Amino acid sequence: MAGNWKMYKTAQETCVFFEKFRPLAEKAQGREIVICPAFPNLSVAVQATEGTRIEIGGQNLFWKKEGAFTGEVSGPMLTAVGARWVIIGHSERRQYFGETDQSVYDKTIAALEAGLKPIVCVGERLDDREGGRTEAVLATQFREGIARLTPGQFAKIAIAYEPVWAIGTGRTATPEIASDAHKFIRGEAGRKYGSAAAESVRILYGGSVKPDNTKALMAQEDIDGTLVGGASLDPASFAAIVNF
Ligand code: PEP
Repeated sequence: MAGNWKMYKTAQETCVFFEKFRPLAEKAQGREIVICPAFPNLSVAVQATEGTRIEIGGQNLFWKKEGAFTGEVSGPMLTAVGARWVIIGHSERRQYFGETDQSVYDKTIAALEAGLKPIVCVGERLDDREGGRTEAVLATQFREGIARLTPGQFAKIAIAYEPVWAIGTGRTATPEIASDAHKFIRGEAGRKYGSAAAESVRILYGGSVKPDNTKALMAQEDIDGTLVGGASLDPASFAAIVNF
């Protein structure tokens, strides 16, 4: 169960969150919990979660280890501050920062080389869904962004299915819609990497996940977890999702 804080919370607000969230997360036995704050708050978040079962991730990284790339952050920098995960190819990165399936692939390789666990995002836009192109879009994103990984690399990633029309809109995909997309992605994974690899890869659903819709989403066989934006900013609400 992963939280994407986007460009929200100062360092102080990060500490306040974890003070409230830590005891609530302790009840979530058997759940993996990841929170991805903005870069300047990673250290504070790592310190605030030391000795707990909460892991910290970045929301993005650059594909080079170091160099003259003003404003960018590398995989080794994330690992060095104690991040364990990184979100790659979020639709907001694709929409506002020109990220492509090629950069998703490059960033995934960079993350793996740095020892980070990538959460690779895919998902169709509203016009794609309405135009009947959902599967075609997912197939392209999978083929170009993910399927070039070796089987060993593929085994180390998680995938997040995030229909763009459901992100931050309050418009969640129904469990059936989400489930169909997850099945499709798992099918693509099976064709490329075989059924055992497809069974083991974790596919998270993201898009207006809230405490009151988590249980129905998580009841779907192919939904292995959630990537939560807005509702992960509030400790009680994210705890309710984690403890669904
Ligand atoms: C997200 O940022 O990945 C997301 C799914 O946002 P929200 O839960 O707010 O729709």
